[in-house]
Amino acid sequence: MTTTAGHPGEAVGVRELAHWIDGRPVRLGPARTSLVTSPEHGGAVTSVVLGDQATVADAVASSARAFPAWRDRAPAERGRLLAGLSRQMRAAAAEFAAAERPETGKLPAEMDAALGTSADYFEYYGGVVRALFGQTIQLGAADHAFTTPEPYGVVAMITPWNGPLTQASRGIAAALAAGNTVVIKPSEFTSSSTVMLAEMAGRAGIPAGVINVVLGTGVEVGEPLVRHPDVRLIAFTGSVVTGRRIAALAAERLVPVILELGGKSPNVVFADADLDRALSSTLTICTQSGQQCAALSRLLVERPVYESFIQRVAAELAQRTPGDRLAPLTTQAQFRKVLGYFDAAQQDGARLVTGGRAADGPLAQGRYVHPTLYADVRPGMRIFQEEIFGPVLAATPFDTEAEAVALANNSEYGLVASVWTRDSARALRMAREIQAGQVIVNGGRTGIETPFGGYKQSGLGREKGFESLLHYTQVKTTVVATT
Ligand code: NAD
Repeated sequence: MTTTAGHPGEAVGVRELAHWIDGRPVRLGPARTSLVTSPEHGGAVTSVVLGDQATVADAVASSARAFPAWRDRAPAERGRLLAGLSRQMRAAAAEFAAAERPETGKLPAEMDAALGTSADYFEYYGGVVRALFGQTIQLGAADHAFTTPEPYGVVAMITPWNGPLTQASRGIAAALAAGNTVVIKPSEFTSSSTVMLAEMAGRAGIPAGVINVVLGTGVEVGEPLVRHPDVRLIAFTGSVVTGRRIAALAAERLVPVILELGGKSPNVVFADADLDRALSSTLTICTQSGQQCAALSRLLVERPVYESFIQRVAAELAQRTPGDRLAPLTTQAQFRKVLGYFDAAQQDGARLVTGGRAADGPLAQGRYVHPTLYADVRPGMRIFQEEIFGPVLAATPFDTEAEAVALANNSEYGLVASVWTRDSARALRMAREIQAGQVIVNGGRTGIETPFGGYKQSGLGREKGFESLLHYTQVKTTVVATT
């Protein structure tokens, strides 16, 4: 990777990005490239080499070669290397920001948080892998039976553009800790920080081939990677449509898949809640401009406080000025998609309370929209059912607890739900009834220790927490006759 000179810590000019295979940058032949443009101003920021089936073959062969030696190291030794990488990442926060912010448009504080979480993954899995072990099974004196968690081999990882470093770190840390090697294909729009991570892993002592990065589009690189016969496990984060395609390809070879897909998560606010704290959780729709799979994009409010609460939300949203306090939308396609939902909301008859338009003036060169709240949204409307992935809230009133549950579950997704109430018995009833992989009550904070994944169309399997290590291993049973 090369960059043109810039201010300390922040690159200017166009970053030239190559694949990272077998411990070095690779450009095969007269490679085709694609230009990534800035969400902030539309100018070119990165030139990405576009790989193909041959690139994938080289990367998978490298990871397959690296696998036996990596698998055979003591977990503690792998763990120390991952912890070392974590320290290097923290020390290189400015360089990661210089790589990722121009492509994603994240605000500086959002990037700091992303870097911290990413480094945490390597620290956590580097330690917790030492607690991964099998069981002995009592079959009587004549047989000795035990289980061993074993890595799969080469893992194919495919990530989206909204959290390139965090999503790469989340999967790679768990996969490597468990003894697998990884070929990762980041989104073609946000590849820089993933290449930087792989490069840094080499400097931290992780052998060449344990992490390979192939760049390019989903069809030209992602599909050959998923189809490759030496790939033994697939971990995908992205949209439901692509997740289905990948699951179908994996089914042809009967390869297991971990799918982290989209969400349309409800934030349920009862009238007895601490409304100040409920308000601040509602405003997290502005984090990364709503481009988060876990965004609480459906606001369900008990009728007695409905109108006053949404007016408070609207007043706060109006303060989040695009640019300083609200990031742009990362890709041009995403920008157009969000504008399309403004039209859809109007056609479907939702009440616009604030926002609902792109930013104008100097910000019009970028992909900025105003934070938006629609009220009186009904389940039949597109903005109630479809993931927008923008700073757009859809608010709906409810009258009873049963109606709140029915509205919360009226979705093909089931990633996250949030509930606000001072009635702890009701909180527990809601947590039990809501169909989601995570239920947050009164703003409880999740961590990298807490498993994360979806019910229904939001995915298969779990990332984060110890649970993830179990997904990156398969169980072998050994039985030895002792007589
Ligand atoms: P996407 O599905 O379009 O692309 C994701 C990745 O898949 C990219 O690297 C892309 O190049 C690749 N890809 C596309 N088509 C492919 C194919 N046919 N075969 C193999 N790979 C292919 O998603 P996106 O637009 O980049 O990301 C936004 C989506 O990701 C949203 O739906 C969001 O909810 C989801 N997401 C989920 C999580 C989670 O953990 N649950 C986290 C972040 C984002």
